[in-house]
Order: sequence, then structure tokens, then C-alpha cells
Amino acid sequence: MQISKHVFRALALGMVSMGLVVGAAFPLFVMGFGVPKATALAPTFIAATLISGFVVGWLNFALASGIVRPRLKKLATGMQHVRGAMQQATFSGDWSSCDPAMCRLDERDEDELGAVAHSYNALLYALHEAHRIEAQIRDFTKTLSSKLDLHELGDQALSMLQANARAQGGAIVLERQGDWTVLASRGLNHPEKILESQAFIANQDQTIQNRITLPPGMMVDAVLTQFVPADVLLTPIKNHGLVLGWVILASAQAFAEDVPRVLPLMMQGLGLALNNALLHDDLQRVAALDPLTGIYNRRFGFKRFEEELNRAERNRSSLAILLLDLDHFKRINDTYGHLSGDKVLIQSANICREILREGDVLLRYGGEEFVIVLPGASLHDAKEVAERIRFAISQSIVRVGDQALNVTSSIGIAATSGQGLITTAEDLVAQADQRLYMAKATGRNKVVAEGLPDPHASLAAH
Ligand code: GH3
Ligand code: MG
Ligand code: MG
Repeated sequence: MQISKHVFRALALGMVSMGLVVGAAFPLFVMGFGVPKATALAPTFIAATLISGFVVGWLNFALASGIVRPRLKKLATGMQHVRGAMQQATFSGDWSSCDPAMCRLDERDEDELGAVAHSYNALLYALHEAHRIEAQIRDFTKTLSSKLDLHELGDQALSMLQANARAQGGAIVLERQGDWTVLASRGLNHPEKILESQAFIANQDQTIQNRITLPPGMMVDAVLTQFVPADVLLTPIKNHGLVLGWVILASAQAFAEDVPRVLPLMMQGLGLALNNALLHDDLQRVAALDPLTGIYNRRFGFKRFEEELNRAERNRSSLAILLLDLDHFKRINDTYGHLSGDKVLIQSANICREILREGDVLLRYGGEEFVIVLPGASLHDAKEVAERIRFAISQSIVRVGDQALNVTSSIGIAATSGQGLITTAEDLVAQADQRLYMAKATGRNKVVAEGLPDPHASLAAH
């Protein structure tokens, strides 16, 4: 009502005035057709034509406003409803009542009012889209900002990106200390192949999004089949302008138009979260690892050792440890220098690492002493592992200039009973240390697993 008041007032004025003008001119007009002047200019005739002009003008106005006004009113009411709903949604966060499908105006008529409704609907849709994308980015950033674990972050980010882009396959690759690695991947048959592909290598120094083709043989795993994706998007993950890695998304069909535009916006949140997770990971590494050998340091390694010991006690499963000490290591240092000694230490740690299995714990206990925790292993199993390590170290050679250094090791073993008897990490190490001492005393380059009283025997007896 309010919005059209001025227009309709002007319309009424115009039409009534036009009626009056026609009414006033009508006597002169009829004189042209031979009506006598006295009749045409008679006050009653003039009054009649003026009244008729006024009435016709007013009727015209009433007709026009009767047709146009309800449609305008409908438009205005619709717009006001949506404005109210949007105001509510801004505060409540629930945008379901602003869905364009529900709020759109009728745009059937092909006139100006139809065009207004059409433009309004387009605006409504654009607003809704803008809100949807903003909510999507906010949700993505919020979810990721609480994740500090690098791999958890990678998996979560990839699954959300994949869902938003409707991609069947994807990966996140990262550069760490000059090496590219796959942090997370979903639905790709050989994600690591991307890193060697020409398309990726050509793009990895860029800082902008690109479309690539996957290397030959690399496909997306669908439910029952594998397919070569029709569209692959490579989007950089940046933090402060620096590329930390790339998100690769692969789809069976071309991506929807907004996907390549929305992805870089999502990358801002991911870049920040990824940077935090990388810093956290670095800190954890520094706190947990021995800088020389890259294996667990004593403090962190013992924490892991105690966790495994508790688990073994809870599950009444066995656990064994090896205490390994390099033989005559001082001599190596004295003869070839400390740096050569370091090389031998690194190589010995690597040999242990290669022989050990996933759940085993390897830590640097002291200078040239390592503790190896073997969850689930009996004394017998531990002897076999120890023997393999001892043999591998004795066979290995460290080259220093044109010299070939050779070192041997002695290993003492201790194991829990597997009967749920309480044993401390220190007790086990002390027992292994006594057996290590025996190995040293009886010639070195050997493994000792028995020969001393088992503390459990006395514990059990009491
Ligand atoms: P044994 O066969 O009885 O074990 O003789 P050993 O010479 O190995 O015994 P000892 O424990 O006396 O010597 C250990 C040496 O390890 C002494 C120390 O200088 C050296 N060492 C400790 N930490 C490091 C290190 O980080 N780098 C190097 N190069 N040497 C180290
Ligand atoms: Mg020693
Ligand atoms: Mg030694």
C-alpha cells in the first residue's frame, strides 16, 4: 500500500485531470459537428461534460489500480516476508525458511511486474547461494581449526572437500623438508603416483589453481569399477602466500561451476590449520626424538614403554625388552673420531628400525645403548629378534673415508611373565642390564636371555 501511494496519487490526479480537460474541451468539439453554440456552451451542458470527464477519468484510474495494485501488493508482501525471514535467520542461524524454492515470487507474467519478480527471485537465489557458501567455508574452517594432529586434519579436510565438491577421489600432498608426501588420499588407486607425474611436477612451483590430467594408470576407485576422471582440479594450500601443499580433487564429470571458485576460499582456513598442525608436529618430533638417530629419546621412549607395559598387564599378554650396547664403542671414537662414532650410532639405530615391526618401540637409552620394547613377545621371540639384530650389526660396515668400520653389539633380554604380575619398566631394564653385563663379561657380540634369577619367581612366591 505504502510503496505505491505516490504513484497511484499521481495516476489518479493525471487521469481525473485528463477527464476534466476532455470534459472542458467537449463543448467546443461538438460545436465543430454543428451543435449550436448556445446549446454547447450552456452551463448545464458544460457541467455535464465536466462531470462525465471527471467520472470517466476516475473510472479509468479505478480500473488501472484495481488490476495493478493487487499484483504490486503481492510482490511487496512476498518481499517483506522474505526480508523478515532473513532477519530472523541472521540471528537464529536457521536459514531453512529462506529457501528460494519456498520464498520465490510468481513470475509467470511477461510484463514489467513479471520482470521485477524475476529479478527479485534471482537476487534471492544469489543471496541464498552466498550464504550457503559462506556457511560451508565457516563450517570447514571451524572443524579444522580444532585439529592439531596432522593426519587427522588431512583426512578430515579431504573428506569435507570431497563432499563439498562432489569429487569421487582426492588427495592432499605436502612438502616437508624438501620432500613431497601424500598426507591423505581417498578413492585414488595409487595416490603416490601424483607426486611423480609430469602434470604435478610442472605445477608444483605455481601458486594458482589448475586443471590437470592424472598420470597414466592412475584411476579413481568407484564402487565396482575404476575410472579415469573427466575433471581433476589442483588447488594450492597457502599460508601467508607460501604454498604448503596441494589439494587434488578428481571427478567423473566436470565440476560444478562454483567449485573452482569456492575451493581457494576454503584453502585459507586449511592453510592456517595445516600450518598449526605442522608446527605442532615439529614440536612433538623435537620433544620425542633423539636428534642424532631420529629414534625416540629416553624420556618419550620410556613413556611409550610404560604405555605398552600397562597394556600388556591389562591384557595379560607378554612383553619383552632388549637392552643393546655397542661393543668397545669408546675405541671407535678414540680411533676414528667422534663424528665416525656418530655415523656408527646412526647406522646401528637404522638396522634396529629395519628389523623391528610396526608396534615395537625403539629408544636411545644412553650414549650407545638402545632399549627395544617388543609388545606381545615372549622371551623366546625376543631372543630371535635380538639375534637378528646382533647379526645384522656385526655384518654391517660403516665407511669413513677409505676406512671400513665394523662394530658388534651385546644384548640383554628381559620379559614379563604374561600373568598380569606387576612389573615396572625400571625392573625390566635392571634385569636386562644384568644380562647385558653377562654378555659383556663372557665375550661380547652375544645375546643373553637367561641365567639370572627371575624377579617374578620371588614376587610370585611372596
Ligand atoms: P663396552 O663394550 O664395554 O660397552 O665398551 P664401550 O667402549 O662401548 O663402553 P663405554 O660405555 O665405556 O663407552 C661408551 C662410549 O660412547 C663413551 C662415549 O664417549 C661414547 N658416546 C656416548 N654418546 C655418544 C655420541 O652421541 N656420539 C659418539 N660418537 N659417542 C658417544
Ligand atoms: Mg655403554
Ligand atoms: Mg658399549
